[in-house]
Amino acid sequence: MLLSEASRIALIGAMPEELSAVLACMPEAHCENVAGRQFWIGHLQGHEVVAVLSGIGKVAAALTATVLLERFQVKRMLFTGVAGGLAQHVSVGDVVVASELLQHDMNAEPLFPQYVVPLSGCAKFKTDEDLTRILLESARHTLPQVQVHAGLIISGDQFVASASESLRLQSALPEALAVEMEGAALAQVCRDYGVPLCVVRTLSDRADDEAHIDFPKFVKEVASHYSVTIVSEFLKRLPT
Ligand code: SAH
Repeated sequence: MLLSEASRIALIGAMPEELSAVLACMPEAHCENVAGRQFWIGHLQGHEVVAVLSGIGKVAAALTATVLLERFQVKRMLFTGVAGGLAQHVSVGDVVVASELLQHDMNAEPLFPQYVVPLSGCAKFKTDEDLTRILLESARHTLPQVQVHAGLIISGDQFVASASESLRLQSALPEALAVEMEGAALAQVCRDYGVPLCVVRTLSDRADDEAHIDFPKFVKEVASHYSVTIVSEFLKRLPT
């Protein structure tokens, strides 16, 4: 095994715009197709990386993570994407780094407490402390004008696009900073494999009645640019 393979890192994005910004920095990357996904293997900032789109939703993200682990032997993962803001003190354009992730649509009551993944004993899945610290430092360094938060991100198979649903989630899970559709699925897979994960999301909308209008505009204009600059700084700071 090459030395770099021992620390190979997955760069997972949810949006084609984000992935193409990363791929533009990896001109020598080659592509392998597995399960209808394109996995791009190459180098970035001295690291061996595999870049891929997660697909949307928890099942797509979990499958992508499993292929990255089983086929491409990645040893750590970084997820970048956009999310809807939930907490009152977060705004569109802020960046949220996950310290932990929870599936807000998991409910096997009365057999298990709400949100607990049955038989795992866990509702909140922690991200890796070291990777998360480096990610937070990288986001703050590259985007000094942007508010960068760290905390709980929640995931579910639902694009939250109404004020009433957003308020329901806020009152059920008051510590949640943002809502998206993939992160907690990756966290569950990474926990099972014992592989470190970190997750960063730029807030594209407020998960309210305007969410479907704000979201596409934001992805194109801001999020892909944020992602690639954070990823690049993160890899510079990451030990090989
Ligand atoms: N690519 C499609 C669908 C995107 S679904 C499109 O362009 O229309 C929304 C994506 O952004 C998911 O990957 C999800 O993780 C994230 N996201 C952003 N805002 C969200 C919100 N309010 N609720 C749930 N997920 C959100």
